[in-house]
Amino acid sequence: MVFLIDFDNTLSNNDDLKDELKDALDSVLGKEETQQFWLFHDEFRGHEKLVEFPFIIRDYCKKVYTETWETKLTEIFNNIKVKDCLYTKAVEVLTHLKSLGKVYIFTEGDLDFQKAKVNKSGLEKYVDGVYVFDYKMEKFKYIIDLLNDKITIYIDDKTYNLEQAKEAVPTVKTVWVRQGYYKDVLAINPDNIDKIVNSLDELLTHDFS
Ligand SMILES: [Mg+2]
Repeated sequence: MVFLIDFDNTLSNNDDLKDELKDALDSVLGKEETQQFWLFHDEFRGHEKLVEFPFIIRDYCKKVYTETWETKLTEIFNNIKVKDCLYTKAVEVLTHLKSLGKVYIFTEGDLDFQKAKVNKSGLEKYVDGVYVFDYKMEKFKYIIDLLNDKITIYIDDKTYNLEQAKEAVPTVKTVWVRQGYYKDVLAINPDNIDKIVNSLDELLTHDFS
């Protein structure tokens, strides 16, 4: 068996992570400058379509720290305490899955931010690998072909991703972890979801055979 498991809102709680990100901004930029950042943030959100947090922070750093923006950005990302944002059973679940087969974290987002996040989560040592893409579902079939295993189980909190996975590779088994922000976004075609669990913890007792 091979498990692909999502990171945001599946292994880590993104609301907590946003709070940590705000704290990181405070500690790196200082209270006064953080206020400037929030003004920039609000203005940015008014104009741009892409409103992802890491992207706004990157843009802010580029504008204010023209020469040293990369260092500043890294400093902010490095100050986020990702470990505190993991769901309590995250390590236990990964260890359990690992006893059943190979396990890969399969995640997406701003590449630098996402890599830093997974790295700081400390979860890498519990899995066989980590795949990070800008848009992961575009690479789903490629990854499945690469892993070349008989049974692949894909675990995610977004039905949208699970449906795309099933459409790309019909033999994949999909598990919806119905928690966090997307827990009420139902699948368009319920047949695309093989199993629903109401929290990450439930994977500990689920019979995958
Ligand atoms: Mg997710």
